[in-house]
Amino acid sequence: MEKYLENDWSQIDRLLEKIKKQGLSYLNTISDRRTSVDQNVLPDIKRISESGYGTEKALEIFNEKFEPVIVASSGPRYWGFVTGGSTPASIAGDWLASVYDQNTQASKGQGDVSAVIELETIKLMLDLLGLPESFLGGFVTGATMSNFTCMAVARQWIGKEKGKDVAKDGVSFPFKIVTATPHSSSLKSLSLLGIGSSNIVKVKTMAGNREALSVEDLEKQILELQDEPFILISSGGTVNTVDFDDFKAIAELKKKYKFWWHIDAAFGGFAACTEETKHLVDGWENADSITIDCHKWLNVPYESAVFFIKEQHKLLQVETFQNSNAPYLGDPLENFSYLNFLPENSRRLKALPAWFSMMAYGKKGYQEIVENNITLSKKFGEFIDHSSDFKLLAPVRLNTVCFTLKDSADQDKVERFLELLNHTGKVFMTPTFYNQHKGIRAAFVNWRTDEKDIELVFNLMNEVITALK
Ligand SMILES: *Cc1c(COP(=O)(O)O)cnc(C)c1O
Repeated sequence: MEKYLENDWSQIDRLLEKIKKQGLSYLNTISDRRTSVDQNVLPDIKRISESGYGTEKALEIFNEKFEPVIVASSGPRYWGFVTGGSTPASIAGDWLASVYDQNTQASKGQGDVSAVIELETIKLMLDLLGLPESFLGGFVTGATMSNFTCMAVARQWIGKEKGKDVAKDGVSFPFKIVTATPHSSSLKSLSLLGIGSSNIVKVKTMAGNREALSVEDLEKQILELQDEPFILISSGGTVNTVDFDDFKAIAELKKKYKFWWHIDAAFGGFAACTEETKHLVDGWENADSITIDCHKWLNVPYESAVFFIKEQHKLLQVETFQNSNAPYLGDPLENFSYLNFLPENSRRLKALPAWFSMMAYGKKGYQEIVENNITLSKKFGEFIDHSSDFKLLAPVRLNTVCFTLKDSADQDKVERFLELLNHTGKVFMTPTFYNQHKGIRAAFVNWRTDEKDIELVFNLMNEVITALK
């Protein structure tokens, strides 16, 4: 054995202890760590050395070069994009997933139980979100890949409706995607799948600067398609204003017309975790496919998301992702293989962090995380609403606050303000453009965020805007 490898192995206990200490130090000081760093210069890129350094020295190099510029993106005041953190249980599950290093493929015959763990975790997710067992699902790297997976099966369904097998013969005919406010990752998926992102029929949104689709206009667009099968991409929480399409109304249309109904509920699906907001997803159980991110509101480490696709489409799904010559199509728990069910072949034990976290905290734990984030975003929204310098760009519907400066004459000031605010390193938010305004978004999905963070940030915002005057 090579000497460093042998040496590392002989002291694995000490090495892991060191890593644990370093990890704890990060976790224990995450509130004080900067949420952004000025890093215009890339550190010099090293080439591989002939004889290596051993893990201890590699850690030293890492700590010198990279560790100081790692930002607190899993901390309580990283409100940019939709960035979750990691619960203690999910970190435990993630560490074990690395240690066990299983290849999650089949439920039988591979001497490995990881696919069974994944199937069980999918059931836990369905329970958590109040969805029926008529969905099957699996883990992918993120909501982008989940949208991709669902769109791929939808494409196969369209083909079947037209008497074609797209998986075998390719997309040889045009068809339409109907949607109002899709996430950019859905457009990327359409492009990857050869469907073409310009084959979209845009549905009008509801009156009053809404991002949710107008059901009336949706029906009008459907009639214009004259019975051609199509894919509807609907939103279970748009990114800007967390607007939800009316799933009950769409479910009614689905009884009348022929389409594949996909819901991108990457983070908004967690509205189902609490009484107060679960009406937002009423009717979503009637969809053909649903996207849910786990590295957002489930608070498990990257990369984790699930797709749910109705079991009745299992054959289409296996046709799409078939990897072996004789995929078994019987009972999903018997001889089931993820190899024939999703894009990747070899995968880590992806479900384990989510399994640990849901086992550890149950429905109540997630209800509290979700309710806490909703309460905090409302509180932050109230601060904005009562301020003389800021104003809301949209009502706070769930866990995101979309706002801008009250003085809207100078739009570039919004950018300057955000730059200065992020530069403090105490909070991180992202820019947006909504309803003809440059705006700023703050999204709350981290289990650690509390009221003190909201107050700290609001005081900071007042300081920054005063400095700008
Ligand atoms: C974040 C997000 C995505 C993309 O998710 P990734 O995890 O970054 O791949 C897709 N749709 C919605 C609504 C999102 O919020």
